Parts: sequence; C-alpha cells; structure tokens
Amino acid sequence: MMIIGITGGIGAGKSTVSSYIASLGYPVFDADEISRNLTRDGSPVVDELAEEFGEEILDRPGVLNRKKLAEIVFADREKNNRLRQIVTMKVREAAIKWITEYRKSGNYGIIFLDIPLLFETGSEDLCGQVWFVTADEEVRRQRVMARDGATAGQVEKRMRSQMPEREKAERSNEIIDNSRGVEELHQTVDALLKKYDRTF
Ligand code: ATP
Repeated sequence: MMIIGITGGIGAGKSTVSSYIASLGYPVFDADEISRNLTRDGSPVVDELAEEFGEEILDRPGVLNRKKLAEIVFADREKNNRLRQIVTMKVREAAIKWITEYRKSGNYGIIFLDIPLLFETGSEDLCGQVWFVTADEEVRRQRVMARDGATAGQVEKRMRSQMPEREKAERSNEIIDNSRGVEELHQTVDALLKKYDRTF
C-alpha cells in the first residue's frame, strides 16, 4: 500500500487535485472536511476552542463563527500555533483511523491524504511520499480573492502565515504546477499516476 500526501499553500489547487483523484476512484482523506466536521454546531471541540480563544469566537453557545476565529488566529502567531495544535491532533487521529480501516479492508492500492498544513503540522510521517501543489503567487492570490471574496491584503496575510513555498517544494517528492488551466492540471496528475500506479 502506498500513502501519498497532497499539500500546498492557500489557493494552490489541492482540493481541485484531490477531487480529480477521487473522481478516478482513489480513496482520498480530506483533512479540511474532517476539521469542518470537528467544529460542527454542538461539537465538544467548539467548547474547547471557546475556552482557549474566548466566547467571541461563538455566534451562540456551541456554534462557531469561523470567520471570527480565522481573524483572531491569523493576527496572532501564538494563537495560530495553538489552534493548529488542537485541530492537528484530532485530524491526525482521524487520519490514522482511516488508514487502519483501509488496511483492514484488504486493499493495498494507492491512497491519498489531502492535508493542507502537512509540513507545518509534522504529518509527513504518515505518508510514504508527498505531492506538493503550487501555482504562481499572483495566480493563487487572484483565485482565492475570486473564490472567497477576500481582499488582496487578507490573502497576503494568510499566505505569510504559512511555510514558505520553497521549503515545502524542497521537502516534497513531486511538484504539481497548477498555474495554468484545469485541463493541464489533469494531464500533470495523470502523468504522476502513470508513474506510480502500474494499473493506471
Ligand atoms: P485552500 O488552501 O485555500 O483551501 P486549495 O489549495 O484547496 O485552496 P482550490 O480550492 O482547489 O485550492 O483552488 C482555489 C480556487 O482556484 C478554486 O476556486 C478553484 O476552483 C480555482 N482553481 C483551481 N485550479 C484552477 C485552475 N487550474 N484554473 C482555474 N481555476 C482554478
């Protein structure tokens, strides 16, 4: 069995790559979906976060205001680290459980872990190798602004809170450049799948 981690900075196209890979039938663990689920209304993790970051991150008891929490942590490195620690541990537990279940099912093909902060959270040890999705900085900025309705300044702040692209590239086995169209992206991913999956 081969476990491949997919990572990259904000707006690089990780979700686009992961959903394409999933559409081809590969199992994909989606760390974003898991962390959204962990912080769903009424989840005990929401109470834990309110204890840590204050009641102002809640819309009402048990209901997280994600935007407010993001504002708080992106403005304060300490708090950002603390949030990562809390969420990372839980996402990591979920990933290990998911991998174990897959093993038990008797399948031994390639599986993927889509973990945006893979390096920042030290999760590369879960993966046999890492594919790093990237795109020109300006392209990423424009895509995130269009997707989230964010300002250039807000995107910039989020980019600066992440590990530098160069460092991530150096620590990865493969680099997926997503600066061009989706069609080209699919071709790049197909070529990698051909390289690693003899059945592709
Ligand atoms: P984040 O870290 O912010 O969650 P991400 O790395 O998962 O982002 P995506 O959500 O896949 O990135 O892509 C960011 C935005 O850019 C999305 O709106 C997506 O539809 C768009 N996008 C991704 N790849 C391309 C492409 N090759 N051409 C045009 N638009 C793209």
